Formats: sequence, structure tokens, C-alpha cells
Amino acid sequence: MSEAMIIDGKAFAARLRETVAVEVATLKAEHGLTPGLAVVLVGDDPASQVYVRNKGEQTAAAGMYSETHRLAAETSEPELFALIDRLNDDPAIHGILVQFPVPGHLSQDRIVARISPDKDVDGLTVTNAGRLASGLPALTSCTPVGCMMLLKDALGELRGKHAVVIGRSNLMGKPMAQLLLAADCTVTIAHSRTVDLPAVCRQADILVAAVGRAEMVRGDWIKPGAAVIDVGITRFPSRDPEKAAQGKTRLVGDVAFDEAKAVAGWITPVPGGVGPMTIACLLQNTLTAARRLNGIAE
Ligand code: NAP
Repeated sequence: MSEAMIIDGKAFAARLRETVAVEVATLKAEHGLTPGLAVVLVGDDPASQVYVRNKGEQTAAAGMYSETHRLAAETSEPELFALIDRLNDDPAIHGILVQFPVPGHLSQDRIVARISPDKDVDGLTVTNAGRLASGLPALTSCTPVGCMMLLKDALGELRGKHAVVIGRSNLMGKPMAQLLLAADCTVTIAHSRTVDLPAVCRQADILVAAVGRAEMVRGDWIKPGAAVIDVGITRFPSRDPEKAAQGKTRLVGDVAFDEAKAVAGWITPVPGGVGPMTIACLLQNTLTAARRLNGIAE
């Protein structure tokens, strides 16, 4: 049997960023409007620092206005809320993203609730989650949107396919399931209490793994010819001892890639699959938010 086609998320994301940059230039030329994204980082989590820096750089590269707020780990809730309120009111800012996780004394739920749903480019507010579930226009979590783009590009029509999503977080699993449902898939959501997960996964024409357990999904969990989207990211020290000593890490997905590749029809690698799509979709969400906030047709 032939090996799976590798879904090149890195190349797809580069094309998407180019498309967004062209649309940003048009928006500026025709409406004098520059989409603006504010990213807020509380504390000094090393992985979050890399994500935040990349978001800032790619926002600017797309021709958008970029603002990054780096706050001390001991920042209080009133101080953080004062910043979010200011960003909610700032007409130059169309997207607000608070990088999670936040230090333990802060509540993620309370922070999300403070962000204006119109600027909630992570799609985490109850308003946007509810709008997505109700089939109304919403700002939707970037990574699931990116997964859908890769799936539609690889498979074309998704209607009628059985999709299994492993993971039920508000950021990933739930919006992914909603998007697949909206695309007329039959959707199963699996999680840590699912009985006989391998048997559930073997039913999937589309298998999305968003767990965060390195190589949990084995080759014999996969239906021959299925499309496998690996969202999981677990960091291990680099295999090169020198790089490891410098704190360099390597990323491992939720899917045992070599085993899965021999069975699946399509598969995303880690890195270079879903990961690059997240920021590209964040740029697109910021563009969408800027248009909607200014009453400009999409
Ligand atoms: P999360 O909030 O920790 O959710 C993990 C989900 O996996 C939970 O629903 C959990 O089930 C489920 N789970 C845990 N152990 C399981 C097991 N043994 N069997 C079946 N399900 C299990 O994580 P998340 O934010 O959704 O992210 C998931 C992964 O995707 C992480 O590795 C994260 O780093 C990665 N991620 C990547 C990107 C990207 O840009 N590529 C973006 C977002 C997330 P319960 O609900 O029952 O606990």
C-alpha cells in the first residue's frame, strides 16, 4: 500500500499570509484602515515568549499594526483588566489575544470574559463559541480554522465523512468539532474518559488529535486511507546534546508519524503541519475583525 500524502501546512500558511497581506494592502488603500493586533503576555513562560514574538513579527510582516504587551508574572487582575479595557476601547486595535497559560493567580475564564467579543480573535468568548455553535458568523479559534483549511485543501468535499476529534478543550477540540459538523461531517468527540479510544479512532475518515500526549495515536488506530491531522505539541530536549544544553527543544505530535504514514491517506507532520496555520489564521481573524468593526464587507 502506498504511503500517506504529507499535508504541507508550512507552505499553505505562507500562501495564506501572502493573501492576507494583499487584502490588508487593499483595505489600507481603499478605506485607510490598518488592522491592528494586540498580544498580551503575562509572565515569562519560554514557549509563550516564542509564540508571542512570532505573532508580533508576522503581524507586522502582513502590513498590520502590531502591539505586544509584556507584563510581569505578578501583574494583578485589576492591572490586566485595565489594559484589556483600554485595548477594547482603542480604535487602532481590532484583535486582542492574551497568551495562555497565565500565572496561577489569574483566571483564564475571567480574562476571556473581559475581552470584547468583537476583538476576540482567539474565538474563546462565550459569545463567539455560542455563535459558532448556532451557525452564526463568529470569530473562531485559529488552530481549528487552520485544520479545516488543510482538510478542505487535501480532501475537497468533507460532507458525510466520519470525523473523530480527540480532545474537547474550548480552544481546540470543541470548535474543531463544530466546524466539522458545519461541514456536514458525522462527528465524534473523544476525550480522556472515552472507552476503547483506538476502536473509536479506527472508525474515522478524518482523525484530529488535539491531546498533548506524544505519539499516543498509533498506526493501528488509523483506518486505512484516513486523513490524520496532528495538532498536539509536546516539547522534548533537542537530540543534539549541545543544543539541549542551550535549552533547544524538539516538537513531537500526538501521532506516531512513521506508523501512521504507512496507513493513512493524508497526514500532517509535526513540526510543519498544523502549527504554522495558527498564526496565519490569527492574521486572517484580525483582518476579519477589522472589517466587521468598521462595517466593511468581507
Ligand atoms: P488541553 O486543554 O490540555 O486538552 C487536552 C484534551 O485531551 C482534553 O480534552 C483531554 O480530555 C484530552 N485527553 C487527555 N488525555 C487523553 C487521553 N489519554 N485520551 C484521550 N483524550 C485525552 O489541550 P489543548 O489546548 O486542547 O491542546 C491540545 C494539544 O494541541 C496540545 O499539545 C497543544 O500544545 C496543542 N495545540 C497546538 C496548537 C498549534 O498551533 N499547533 C494550538 C493549540 C493547541 P479531558 O477533557 O477528558 O481531560
